[in-house]
Parts: sequence; structure tokens; C-alpha cells
Amino acid sequence: VTNVAPLLPVVGHDTYVPLVDGRRVTYANLDVAASAPALESVAQRVAETLPLYASVHRGAGYLSQVSTALYEAARQAIGAFVGAREGDLTVVTRNTTDSLNLLAGCVPAGADGGPGRVLVLDVEHHANFLPWQREADATVLSGGPTVAGTVAQVREELAGAAAAGAPYALLAVTGASNVTGESLPVGDLVAAAHENGARIVLDGAQLVPHRRFSLADTGVDYLAFSGHKTYAPYGAGVLIGRRDWLDAGTPYLAGGGAVRRVRTGTTEWHEGPARHEAGSPNVIGAVALAAACEALAALDPARVHEHESALRRRLVDGLEAIDRVSVVRVWTDAADPVGVVTFNVTGYDPGLVAAYLSAEHGIGVRDGRFCAHPLLGRLGFDAGAVRASVGVGTAGEEIERLLAAVRALVEDGPRGRYDVVDGLWIV
Ligand code: PMP
Repeated sequence: VTNVAPLLPVVGHDTYVPLVDGRRVTYANLDVAASAPALESVAQRVAETLPLYASVHRGAGYLSQVSTALYEAARQAIGAFVGAREGDLTVVTRNTTDSLNLLAGCVPAGADGGPGRVLVLDVEHHANFLPWQREADATVLSGGPTVAGTVAQVREELAGAAAAGAPYALLAVTGASNVTGESLPVGDLVAAAHENGARIVLDGAQLVPHRRFSLADTGVDYLAFSGHKTYAPYGAGVLIGRRDWLDAGTPYLAGGGAVRRVRTGTTEWHEGPARHEAGSPNVIGAVALAAACEALAALDPARVHEHESALRRRLVDGLEAIDRVSVVRVWTDAADPVGVVTFNVTGYDPGLVAAYLSAEHGIGVRDGRFCAHPLLGRLGFDAGAVRASVGVGTAGEEIERLLAAVRALVEDGPRGRYDVVDGLWIV
């Protein structure tokens, strides 16, 4: 894949860092699952929008009106990108974590008047695990070694609960694992949930930036994702989905903008997105995320899929061809994972591998337990692992450099001396 060129230009791709012998830093391009570098078109939209910055929904001033219009247009564009249905709400949040916490406060109570029942798998990122563990009556399934067996388990659990008169309100599941890129078939999960009186929320953090997804086509009820993984800057994400729960739920934040009328004793809260968006909203973040959605929408989804799959395949094949390197999988039969690959090098701590790649090769990857402690524990990786991930801005050459660097580590060892200082590996 040496000649595979990026599909879209990203900012910072050509940054040079003297500390690593003037080598080009590939940080962002092989760590897009953590935070993707911004697209150039997104950076440009932000630069154009900054001078128009003024208070949203609060002023009659011209720039206030422009800002309000930009914010609402961004909301529309983001919703349209993921096939929001007529009547769905698009709430602008800070990120996926924020979105799922918001939804957790809107799950209707169970038959006994207590918190609603939520079914979740142990493969989830903490963002799609802890809100349910803390706010809901959560049941955690471990799933089996196969996709088919895991889906069957989910269906059985949902059906059993419905038959027993204590149906689940919600199935919370990832659109693609942030550890392996693998996923369960969304159509089967939607059917299993809906046949048993439950709704389904998809954690789209790793899915939406890499595959064309549609709420309308899949029937998924709620979708959460983050701007900073979708080639936009930090600070804006969304929760999109069915209106009734969101309009009935406790307003996520109490404050200005979320209320229709306030008296000293009582308050009338808004319905719609404003209910959950108290405080001055992140206009620039929403505009940037919308710009990223528009740029992705303008690409042929088959090209994106092909680009990222080719890079992923080369990465997995290349890593598995190196002695002592193993690639992590959740399921034996997962189809078509997104471009996230987690691996280990026997004999080297994952933190050392990541420090070596950075210090000696100018390559940034993620190491650790990826905010998925239950899964890493179940798979036997309590000491963590190393993760590389690709996106539209990643070039084939970067994959080859990573493979060469891992090969050099296994064959020759690191050149530097590495130690753990304050929990961090440094050279
Ligand atoms: N879910 C998944 C699958 C993720 O990969 C991440 C980020 N690693 C999150 C949720 C949380 O996203 P954020 O930090 O933007 O809230």
C-alpha cells in the first residue's frame, strides 16, 4: 500500500519535529481513533466563522442572528449526514461521553418505578458503559467468541426480560469497537431490541467517521458521536434520535437557554434540543463538525471504505507477519472492521512500544487499556496493548513506516534506554 495517498488533506500532516531527527510526525494519522486531525476544509470553515462569532439565540444584533443561523444550519447538516428522521432531535453536546450521559438521564423508569433497564455488552468503551452502570438498572453481557453467538445471547436476554414482564428500555451497543474496529450487525440488534419493546442507542464514535451510517435506514433510535474523531476540533459532539424521551427527560444542564419561563418558585423547561443545551452553545464546534460531515458526505463512501480497509488489511497482515507480534480480536467471525488495530509485542510493555515508536520513529499511537477495562481484562490484556488506527487522511507510506519500526524493534530492540517515570515510559 506504499502508494496509497490520503483521500482528503488534513492539517498538521506536514509538521516536522526536530526532537525526532526531523522526521515527519505521523501522530495524528495513525491515531485517528483517539482524535483525528482536522480536515483542511474544516480549519478553513472555522477561520471563516470566527469573525462572525456572537451570542446565539440571545440577541437581535446582526452577528447574533448570523451566529444563530449558522448554529442551526450546522445542527441540520449534522443530522442530515447521519440520516436523522423527521422529528428526531439533534442535541449538540461536548462529545460522545456527554451524549450518552445525557441519554442516560432520559431513559424512562422501569415498571417498578425505579431506573429503566439497560442491556450493555462488556466490549464497550467506558463512555457507553459507565453511564448505564451508574444511572440505570444495567445488565452486562460478556458475549461469546463469535458474532453470531453474541447476537443470539443479546436476543435471548431481551426476549427473556420481555416475557418476564420486565422488558429492557434500551440496548446500548457500539457501532465499532475502539479496541479492534469490530462490530455486531446493527440490523440484527435493531430487530432484537424492537421485537422486545426496547430501543437501541449506537455509540457511533468509531463508526460515523468511517462508514456511511443512517438512522432512517437502520432504525437505530439514538446515535452519539464526537467531533474530534470526525476530523473536527474538540469540544462538540452530538446525540441524535427520538424526540419523546429527550423531551420528557430531565434537562441535562440547568441554566439559561433551556427554559421558557422562570419564576422564583417554578420553571417551565423548553422541549427540543434547547432543553439539554443550557449555557452559551459551542457554535464554532458545531459549525466545524458540520463542515466535517459535509466533507465526508461529498466523498464516495465506497472509496472511503476501500481506502481504510486496504490500509487496515496491510497493517494486520504486516503485523502478523512479524515474529512475536499478535493482533487482538474480540470475535472470530467479525465482518468488515473499521480501521482500528490493537496489537502486542511479546516481551515489550505496550507503553515501551508506544514510547519507542514515538521517540525513535516519530510515530504516535495509543497504548493502554483504551477506556475499555472490562474487555481488555476479559481478553487477558490487563497490562494493556498498542493501538494504531487509520482514516481518510492516512497514507499507505505511514503504514509501511509503522511496520518497519515494529520489525526493527523485534529484530534489533530499541536503541534508547527506556524507564517508567511517574507511570510514563520515557527514553
Ligand atoms: N466510544 C468510543 C467507541 C470511543 O472510541 C470513544 C473515544 N475513545 C468514546 C466513546 C468517547 O468519546 P469522547 O472521548 O469523545 O467522549
